[in-house]
Amino acid sequence: MTYKIIRSNRRSIGLEVKNGELTVRAPVFVTDFQIRLFVQQHIGWIEDQMKKQASRKTNAPAAGKLTDKELKDLTDKAKKVIPERVKYYAVKIGVTYGKITIRHQKTRWGSCTSKGNLNFNCLLMLAPDEAVDAIVVHELCHRKEMNHSARFYAEVRRAYPEYDKWNTWLKKNGGAILDRLPA
Ligand SMILES: [Zn+2]
Repeated sequence: MTYKIIRSNRRSIGLEVKNGELTVRAPVFVTDFQIRLFVQQHIGWIEDQMKKQASRKTNAPAAGKLTDKELKDLTDKAKKVIPERVKYYAVKIGVTYGKITIRHQKTRWGSCTSKGNLNFNCLLMLAPDEAVDAIVVHELCHRKEMNHSARFYAEVRRAYPEYDKWNTWLKKNGGAILDRLPA
């Protein structure tokens, strides 16, 4: 369990779970060891809070379903933006690729076929540019490694050092974006 410690003039240790992260507020005189012990003693409560918050998030109402017009605009935008990013990173990684297809799907951001054809979800246009790059790099690196091995991720991180950060962003926030796709 990782956590952030904030020390202050308080008298007792307090725990706070927010956005899946644990913050420990502690008096200045309490040692790191005592804090670790306190966290271990309250691990049940901490895990309960994390679970509760996670389920609250998935049950939250979508930010509004996209209309056909909005979906078409996102697709048009993706058809302009994504091929540019693919071209840039393909050179950087040193791979070729086939056809780029933009679609909208509820379950995935992108995919790469064994022939090197790339598919991307137009809903990526609702995510930050950095997250789009993370997906582009991920799919292009499958041109080198058709798996999710350590070697694959080493390629990904070499081409895009911020990969983990934006992959985590998508894991946290991507569900809400995908939920905007009409049923
Ligand atoms: Zn993959």
